[in-house]
Formats: sequence, structure tokens, C-alpha cells
Amino acid sequence: MSISQLARSIADSPTLRLNEQARVLKEKGEPVIHLGAGEPKSKVPMEAIRSAAAQITSGEVRYTPTDGIPELKKAIIRYMEDNYGKVVGPGNVIVSGGAKQALAVLLTVLINPQDEVIITAPYWVSYPEMVKLAGGVAVPVRAEDGTFQPTVKEIADTVGSYTKAIILNSPNNPSGVMYPREFIAEVVQFCEKKGIWLIMDDTYNRLVFDGLQPINCYEFATDFSESSKLIVVNCVSKMYAMTGFRIGWAVGNKELVKAMGNIQSQQTSGPAAPSQWAAVGALNGVQNSINALRTTLENNRNVMISRLQAIPGVQVTKPNGTFYCFPDFSAYEKSSQKLANYLLEKVRVVTVPGKEFGMEGRLRMSYCGTIKEIKEGLERIQWALDPDAPNEINIGTRKLVRDVK
Ligand code: PMP
Repeated sequence: MSISQLARSIADSPTLRLNEQARVLKEKGEPVIHLGAGEPKSKVPMEAIRSAAAQITSGEVRYTPTDGIPELKKAIIRYMEDNYGKVVGPGNVIVSGGAKQALAVLLTVLINPQDEVIITAPYWVSYPEMVKLAGGVAVPVRAEDGTFQPTVKEIADTVGSYTKAIILNSPNNPSGVMYPREFIAEVVQFCEKKGIWLIMDDTYNRLVFDGLQPINCYEFATDFSESSKLIVVNCVSKMYAMTGFRIGWAVGNKELVKAMGNIQSQQTSGPAAPSQWAAVGALNGVQNSINALRTTLENNRNVMISRLQAIPGVQVTKPNGTFYCFPDFSAYEKSSQKLANYLLEKVRVVTVPGKEFGMEGRLRMSYCGTIKEIKEGLERIQWALDPDAPNEINIGTRKLVRDVK
């Protein structure tokens, strides 16, 4: 088939592919447990539903301004003031179809052919492909000491004349690790000094545990002019459990935001009007759903981590936030792809291979499901891997007995 070289060079999203695989298996009646998902299961805030419903029932669902309806921009401006102490204007804000589109359009605006974008490993699966789509080269930086957080020196050593931007995602998908304040401070200052764009993907920054507070990158900035190269990306997807609405945004300097608007105007126009109104409802409504979600996730994390720690040989770092953890299973199997396939085939548990996030021997596992799913999923995994686990297990209506070695 004569599809383009670019299209051929882009891999599909492994997480969305796994969702599809799990859906098909479930439809066939298979007792699948999905520990690969990237979305909270809580309900959308009522204000969001009411606001979207009112828009739809008006019967007038039209094109919106390319960069977002004024009401949503206003809500985002307030969000920035409340959560970052940062005063921005409507010209600094663009609303997109999820944080994903905000990032994709942003990269298209920033990257010239061959420009490099530094991403810290482990990284969200879509960064390398998005950078490639924009014509650039993603350069992962790995921590020499094997942890989830490279040092500023390791980042600085990777910077060269082609470096255009650095993306930081904290707390991080897939590790759940929140980078320390000093690290964020140093990267903000380093980027300012070097004139490098810094993209803060704050998608999970409200979903932090153990009393931690979100880190505000602007605290460490000194350039508050319209030539600042600091950009914040966020969305309603995770913090309000509104993944299906597809609303995200970017906040940056006016010239950048204007250029993003131009691209969005040619590619997709403004995001769906009812979704934007839903986001207005969520952002302007009572904010207790975020606290409730955080409490649920923290409890789920504790259950998942203690179950993982009970499997001999598995190494896991306790996440500070998100709804993911990134345990090391290399004591059992070095190839994360093989291991994820094995767990799906053998015990019908979906996980995401660490290779997709730039680290082998690990699996990304989500704890955004129910406690029952987490416990049962981990019980199945332990049965599949640990020779000292009980010999038999029930999976749905099937009883499995471990192969005799
Ligand atoms: N950034 C990160 C780090 C993510 O994990 C995700 C979603 N998995 C996104 C951005 C995209 O969010 P959205 O659903 O709003 O496009």
C-alpha cells in the first residue's frame, strides 16, 4: 500500500491497542482484568454534565472559536491563578482536543526538521511519536543510577545545538514518581539560561499522595515576559475523570499560542462545543471530586504496592502520584513484551510493556480500577510467576492448575 513514509514510521498507541484487545476479549466473555488502563473510573462531576447537557439541549451546537470558547478560557485563567498564582490573559491560553492535541500542536509549532526534544525516561509512550510526527527527534535521557529521575547534569550533557525543547511530566506516567522541587527549579533555570523551551506536562499534578503538594514551575522562573519559553499543559481528563470529553489546554507566550491557534484552525478547528462546556462546569464547580479521587487512588496504590512487594524478586518504587506504578519483573522475564503477552494469555491480566516507556523488564500497572480488580489481578500475576504461590487458581469459571515443573 502506498501510505507515506511518515505514516509508516509511526507506531500505534500501545495503550489504546491494549484497551481494544481487552475489550474484544471481554466481549467474548473472557474474565479480563485491565491493569493497563489510563483513566479513573469515578463519575464525571455533576456540574460538568449539567453544563454540557444545557449546551446540547439549546439545540445550537456550532463551531467555536478555534482556540476555545471565552467561558472556558476564563475558567482556565482562574485555574492558573488559583493553582499556580500565575496571571495570564486569554491570548496566553489555547484549548485543544485533550492534552494530547495541545502537545501535538505545540510540537508542530516549535520543531524545525531535525530539532531535538529531550524527554526523561521513563516517558509517556506518545512523546517520541509526537515529536517524530512534528519532524523532530526525541532524545531520551536515562538516569545512570537506574532510578526514574535523571539528574540535571545528565539532561545538560544531552543538550546540543539542535535541542529545541525539554518535556517534563511530573508526577510521571508511567513511574508515578514526582520529581523533587529542586530538580524542577534547576531545570526551569537551566532552560531559561539556555533559551530552551520547557514543556511542563502537568496532567497528573493534582493527583499526588501522602500530603504532597503540586509543584508550581512558575515559582522558579524569572522571565515573566511574553518571550518566556515556559509552557504548561494540562487537561480535565484525569483530575476530573473526563477522558472521553477530550479537553486539554496549553498556557504559554502569546506568539506561541497564536501560532498554535493557526495550526489548530487548519487541522481540526476548535474542540467540540459540548465538551468545552463540560470543562467549564468542571473547572467552575465544587472541587471536592479531585480530593475524593486522590483518596481513592492513594488507597488503591497502597494495596497494589503491598501486593507487588509480596511477589518475590519484584522491585517496585512507591509512586508519589498518578495512578500508575512501574515495577521491575526482570527477575522473571527480561522482555516486557513477552511478559505482558504471557500474563494476558495465561491469566487474562492486561499490563503495558515497559519497553514502550523506554525501560525494559518492567510493566506499567494502573491502580485506577477497583480494589477487587487490583487484588485479583495481582493474585493472578503472582500465581503465574511465583512457584511458591498456591497451586490452583480460579479465573472466572475456569480452574487453573500450575504446570508441574
Ligand atoms: N500527558 C500524559 C503524561 C498522559 O498520560 C496523557 C494521557 N494518557 C496525556 C498527556 C493526554 O491526555 P488527554 O487524554 O487529555 O489527551
